[in-house]
Amino acid sequence: MVKSVLYKVQHQQAQVPVAEYLQECVDVDKFLGYCQQCENYNRRWSCPTFDFALMDIWRRFKSLWLVNCVLTPLPGTTLEQLLAGLQQEKNRLHDALLNLEKQNTGAWVLSAGSCRLCEEGCSRPQGQPCRKPERMRYSLEALGGDVGKTAELYFKQPLVWIEKGEMPAYLTLVGGLLLTEEIKGVCFDEEREFSIPTGLFAG
Ligand code: SF4
Repeated sequence: MVKSVLYKVQHQQAQVPVAEYLQECVDVDKFLGYCQQCENYNRRWSCPTFDFALMDIWRRFKSLWLVNCVLTPLPGTTLEQLLAGLQQEKNRLHDALLNLEKQNTGAWVLSAGSCRLCEEGCSRPQGQPCRKPERMRYSLEALGGDVGKTAELYFKQPLVWIEKGEMPAYLTLVGGLLLTEEIKGVCFDEEREFSIPTGLFAG
């Protein structure tokens, strides 16, 4: 089947001492306030409220390895295709981070955004346990991290948003790993183009 190229993906990486990141980008109270206004608050196991203190988590680690994944739409790409690509890249990044977590003793994945692993929706509103605890991870923002400032400070590329249904210049995923030592086993491709069979999406 004929392939059509839809968007370009670029990855950047940075390793930051946790002490520096806490000073520059973490404000637990401020981001908890934002979370309380979100529909996911108390409704996803990946999102607050938590039964642990966030600062206790940060203090367990020495280093934060960050990855910035930027999707740039190519001419002819629709917003629907770009958003489908974003979800695909999020899944791909999550798998890669989970692999790195296995290779780095004591590491913790920070996922890019809230958990969307269950197509049927999260089990939390029903008072049921998480269905996939082996894959579910918390995001930077759920732990009080400022993702916008992270993207600007460490990758020199501000986040942009979809406004009024218009195609954005690019979309960004920011994830990472909390580590007790320097990272091992990083193998991110720096840049590639993503293709899917034409006709898979309408429009
Ligand atoms: S894996 Fe499923 S049940 Fe667990 S947090 Fe994610 S969506 Fe909710």
